[in-house]
Amino acid sequence: MTNKELIFNYLDELFPDAHCELNYSKDYELLIAVMLSAQTTDKSVNKATAILFLKYKNLEELSKAKLEDVEECIRFIGMYKVKAKNVIGIAQKLLSDFGGVVPHDGEKLMTLPGVGNKTKNCVLAELFNDPYLAVDTHVQRISKRLGLVKEKDSVEVMEKKLVKFIPRERLIKTNHQIIWFGRYFCKAIKPDCKNCKLSGICREKN
Ligand code: SF4
Repeated sequence: MTNKELIFNYLDELFPDAHCELNYSKDYELLIAVMLSAQTTDKSVNKATAILFLKYKNLEELSKAKLEDVEECIRFIGMYKVKAKNVIGIAQKLLSDFGGVVPHDGEKLMTLPGVGNKTKNCVLAELFNDPYLAVDTHVQRISKRLGLVKEKDSVEVMEKKLVKFIPRERLIKTNHQIIWFGRYFCKAIKPDCKNCKLSGICREKN
């Protein structure tokens, strides 16, 4: 079995149903949740968005929200002040420029406040099923440990290498599986190496 087969088979065995763990029911809710998730756990974001989207029922209400009120809703997540500004900015721009609909277009998405390459990729994959990869902290760590990328590679280089390595048809699924592997198994501190079937190809097994 090749290393590639070993990795994908194991991820399928561990996490056959890996998926996005951010809660949302509307397109803009997902976009805002992903923007909020930078350097914050999905669990905290879900808590914050539950409060935020209960208080503001639609984009119109969010676009007119007072900054300090939005800050209050999300104040327990990292960088909440700048993110609160982005929440209102995203609502305003979606209404003014995109008819209140999250655009199915990477370049347009990146004109929205707080939306960078990772958020854009997440949104395109989750909302539109487009084959994009979001290279978050878990994806970076696991890819390095498994030798799929080099320690010093930039996030952009990692993204290119991983997109080449992972078959297009399973790119979105594998992205979630690697994130879950990092979140629940191969954690930054104390990974479960004793029970890991990838220890034979891992550079950092304990
Ligand atoms: S051997 Fe340990 S560090 Fe390596 S992939 Fe498995 S759990 Fe992660």
